[in-house]
Amino acid sequence: MVNSVRNLVSSYTEALYPIIYINHFDFRVIDELIKGIVEHRKVVEYNNGLGFVDFKTKAPMQVCDLYNFLNIVKDDGYDNETFILLKDVHDQLNKPEIVSLLKYIAERNLYNEDYSATVFIASSKLRIPAELEELITVIDMPLPSVSEIKNIMTNFIEDLKIEVPDDVVNEIALSLKGLNEFQVEQILNLAYQDGGSLDSDDKSLIFTQKEQLIKKAGLLEMIPVKEQIDDIGGMENLKEWLYRKEKIFNNLDKAMKFGVDVPKGIMIVGMPGCGKSLAAKATAKLFDIPLIRLDVGRLLGKYVGESEENMRKALKLSEAISPCVLWIDEIEKAFAGVGNSGGGSDVTTRLFGQFLTWMQEKENTVFIVATANDISRIPAEFLRKGRFDELFFVDFPNPEERRKIMEIHLKKRHKWNKDLNIISLVKLTEGYNGADLEAIVKDAIESCFIEGKEQLETKDLELAQQNIKSISSTLKGRVEEIREAAKNVDLKPASR
Ligand code: ATP
Repeated sequence: MVNSVRNLVSSYTEALYPIIYINHFDFRVIDELIKGIVEHRKVVEYNNGLGFVDFKTKAPMQVCDLYNFLNIVKDDGYDNETFILLKDVHDQLNKPEIVSLLKYIAERNLYNEDYSATVFIASSKLRIPAELEELITVIDMPLPSVSEIKNIMTNFIEDLKIEVPDDVVNEIALSLKGLNEFQVEQILNLAYQDGGSLDSDDKSLIFTQKEQLIKKAGLLEMIPVKEQIDDIGGMENLKEWLYRKEKIFNNLDKAMKFGVDVPKGIMIVGMPGCGKSLAAKATAKLFDIPLIRLDVGRLLGKYVGESEENMRKALKLSEAISPCVLWIDEIEKAFAGVGNSGGGSDVTTRLFGQFLTWMQEKENTVFIVATANDISRIPAEFLRKGRFDELFFVDFPNPEERRKIMEIHLKKRHKWNKDLNIISLVKLTEGYNGADLEAIVKDAIESCFIEGKEQLETKDLELAQQNIKSISSTLKGRVEEIREAAKNVDLKPASR
């Protein structure tokens, strides 16, 4: 049970708050909460399906509707200090007779010294009738903290008499953050049934649950990731940096206890089709945490303040399900115009400010990966020291990187063989980006198949190369602009 809520609710009842609306779906948790503060009081419970039920045993006592129930119990507060617990009655709160009876009880509680009854409305849906607005206090059940999750895990482990090393408990507890007690227990049960114990591999179950949360909220997108860090050809500096941080993210609990600062995030700027998105995906895979995409366009709402509220919710959600990678693709478009003479729209400027403040103050395990092409269109505040841990620039791949990229894509398609003269291809592909090189490999393999050949030959690749123009030739002006803009900012080359 979440202690802070118990104390809060207890102090509300002492202070005669007449109606407490607990916005939560898990009635077992609510029963625990009430039991924790009931002391000498009498509890009467109404269940939408069963009518009047015994709070302790949950046995039905009298079949009745809510109106009759409230009539039966409305004067109990004169004889005993009473808690009136109403479960799932949200759909009935628009009925005038129900509102009147609730108001009758609430006013007696407030103004009659010889009467004491607190009404608890427990429901996952929040419906507050205007007439009761002043009398209702809403409580959101917070999600369990990491140490509360550890307690749930310890009880689970003791009940089943299984052995789980402390390290594993700590790591899994951290991944379970953001889920409620019910979901935590559900995952522990699933994980146990799956392998007869709990281990680090159970993280995939946790990812699935988190994906559900994200889908329901509709503000963020969880991206399935297959890409590994070894799927990136080149970018050795960036990869080395990520490998170092992997040691932290894969031992987050230990690292934080040791006093290591949790990495905040990186910005990857540079040429199109050179693997920036690929790097964002591979980062999540390397750190073994979910990849969540923040699309600022998706947050824009029709009503005043709606976009800001969506941004607040999206950032809160990312924190709740952290550790995770929060990926903002094409960040220059997301916050287009902010800080430039042209100016962004008011809403975009406010969203940018909100995001920046969150980034500045954030002390959580959300690792931001922002990707962009053109640094001149990124608001300058973003690039100041301390916002990101590092800013990387990705240029077109050098010869060694081009060789590596082709090798990766050939191997992926099982067409790598020793007889291929990749060096000749490397010479022909100056100015090609990773996506172009992948296209050459794909085209060559397709032709090889269509011609009915068993083995891919160098000339297939050379022929494909002739048909594919490099991006640096087709977008010459744009490429120069990107390169010029990058010179004005202190960026670390992603490649060695
Ligand atoms: P944009 O700026 O246009 O969004 P990007 O830099 O994000 O481009 P990606 O989407 O990551 O580029 O690259 C497109 C595809 O090209 C990748 O999915 C991958 O298959 C291939 N690719 C690009 N760069 C590399 C690389 N360095 N190593 C291996 N494959 C690469």
